[in-house]
Amino acid sequence: MTVSSAKSQKKIARIVAARPVLEGGGFLVHRPFPTPELMQVDPFLLLDEMGPVIYPPGGAKGAPDHPHRGFETVTYLLAGEMEHRDSAGHAGKLTPGDLQWMTAGAGVVHSEMPSEAFQKSGGKMHGFQLWVNLAAKDKMMAPRYQELSAQSVPVVDRPEEGAKVRILAGAFGGETAATQTTEPILYLDIELAAQGSFKVSVPIGQTCLVYLFEGKCHVGADGAEVRAHTLVLFEEAGDLIVAKAAAGPCRFLVLAARPLREPVARRGPFVMNTEAEIRQAFVDYQEGRFATIPPQVKRS
Ligand code: MN
Repeated sequence: MTVSSAKSQKKIARIVAARPVLEGGGFLVHRPFPTPELMQVDPFLLLDEMGPVIYPPGGAKGAPDHPHRGFETVTYLLAGEMEHRDSAGHAGKLTPGDLQWMTAGAGVVHSEMPSEAFQKSGGKMHGFQLWVNLAAKDKMMAPRYQELSAQSVPVVDRPEEGAKVRILAGAFGGETAATQTTEPILYLDIELAAQGSFKVSVPIGQTCLVYLFEGKCHVGADGAEVRAHTLVLFEEAGDLIVAKAAAGPCRFLVLAARPLREPVARRGPFVMNTEAEIRQAFVDYQEGRFATIPPQVKRS
């Protein structure tokens, strides 16, 4: 018997253009999913590219107090300034390059707002919010909050390949992110120079996606050309993702994780396994069993 270690490139299963959507208090997002055509990319429930948008002074928008249960919200900021407050007592300010990984678990009420300074000055807002589903066994876990400053995000710089890779979760090129996740997740931000190229191995059977948000690139075994604000989903077969810059520099996210393959019941801010659990979440929230945001972490 011969065992081959040759990697085989993944083929593209789907290419999905992100839709512009007004979310929360009226902020612009590019949303590849969920949409009626693509409800989830198991275990990922939502991917929003926040902006890019230039706010005038006083014009920045956010999402005031709202609840979550049963999953994680992951915010990665590229431009602008956001403040987080939640009912578990966590508070933080996100500046460009910072990552916040919030596990809502059994229930959190939080607010995601532009900082007061950014609200005053206005300016460019750009970033991502990702929703990661929790397995049934973890849905009611205690809320958890992780904040990784830009300085603590490992960077793998490969000038000879024209690639700079920031590791938001998981490992790449001998570097590992400090991010703790309930299941192994790979989350990378890749900047390619003109002519740059990138490849990453992913275990066979994992859900894998690329989301291109700047420039154009060729991606997948067939080298399809995709433009900014486009999601690329890969087939399960194969264990290598390859991307090459097309017509100048480009920038994209790579996400990979094992699918949970569990029933998903979702309504608004709650994602559970059954409708009964969703009804319970609404009852618990309405009856005040999600704590409210403590006054000491509220904006004065
Ligand atoms: Mn939220």
